[in-house]
Amino acid sequence: MAFLTLEGVSKEFGTFTAVRDVSLTIDKGEFVSLLGPSGCGKTTTLQMIAGLVEPTEGRISLDGRDITREKPNRRGLGVVFQSYALFPHMTVAQNVAFGLEMRRVPQAERDERVRDALMLVQLSAFAGRYPRQLSGGQRQRVAIARALVIAPPVLLLDEPLSNLDAKLREEMQFELRRIQRKVGTTTIMVTHDQAEALSISDRVVVMEGGRMTQVDAPYRLYEQPSNAFISSFVGKTNLLAGTWRRNGTSSAADIGGVLLEASAPEIAAGTPVTLSIRPEKILVRDAGAGRLEGRVASRFFLGSQWLFTVETPIGTMTVSTPNLGVEPATEGSQVGLDWSPDNMRIIAGTAAA
Ligand code: ATP
Repeated sequence: MAFLTLEGVSKEFGTFTAVRDVSLTIDKGEFVSLLGPSGCGKTTTLQMIAGLVEPTEGRISLDGRDITREKPNRRGLGVVFQSYALFPHMTVAQNVAFGLEMRRVPQAERDERVRDALMLVQLSAFAGRYPRQLSGGQRQRVAIARALVIAPPVLLLDEPLSNLDAKLREEMQFELRRIQRKVGTTTIMVTHDQAEALSISDRVVVMEGGRMTQVDAPYRLYEQPSNAFISSFVGKTNLLAGTWRRNGTSSAADIGGVLLEASAPEIAAGTPVTLSIRPEKILVRDAGAGRLEGRVASRFFLGSQWLFTVETPIGTMTVSTPNLGVEPATEGSQVGLDWSPDNMRIIAGTAAA
């Protein structure tokens, strides 16, 4: 059931187009991330949904109502920005209660809702503290409680976890997802962190240069990126440029004279192609036992994984293998790299980078 809809939404700043013809339908209760490199138009898109920036073109509707030109406060959406400005002179409980006071919610109900919101973000014990007495992650949770307490139809989050260290950030990602599942609030989050977008979202919207280039569930986005940029931006990959060859019923990518068997019936012979092979889809075998010979140039132990760089006739390949408790090939050794052709993604055209 379409809940929030963007139809042909664009934003121009003078002659510069920050967001170009974005159309998107979000269902009630969905968690959607806007993902892309710096300057691709994520924040501008979110601000247009919030009502802080007016679209140059297009239409935004919420639950069937056209809100394109509606004032931000009339939309009643919950917004958490990167700098989650809490009021420093108010306690945690007062900060959370603020939006309810503005809406003239009676005191008894207000107290109860604040209590519930703080319980949800696991900060009940901190109700009487001031923001300066909290850690970054705790402050972040207060900001989320403050947005959620007004029971907004949509929660908008702009890089909400960007100020946190890696460990806290990971904890907060799970926390945010847990809270969102429990409350069921339709949530849109801006992030430039692909791992965050993949782990937290129902669907990810990839933006490049103001355009939406792929909208998919995280697993599909990772396994079937629609272009070479996305295949390297979302997760790590080996990108190889070559030419498509056909011989009867068999086909292969010709990478500088080395033929790698693959199937892509829709691609015509002679077309430039980019191959994408994820590091974890490659197996390290004995020399002579793979599709491609190579020499281990470096090997790093990451605890749960081994990470290799392997010099091959078609360039340096990155390979990661799980740590199965047996020490794998050492630096300098000859190995064979192997993979299932199904795990090789073939993209027509050459990679931009
Ligand atoms: P980041 O991850 O760096 O925050 P973003 O994807 O959120 O980037 P936006 O903030 O949406 O990007 O900006 C998109 C483009 O529009 C950028 O090139 C930015 O410089 C430009 N832009 C944003 N706001 C304005 C403005 N008020 N006036 C002129 N240009 C703007």
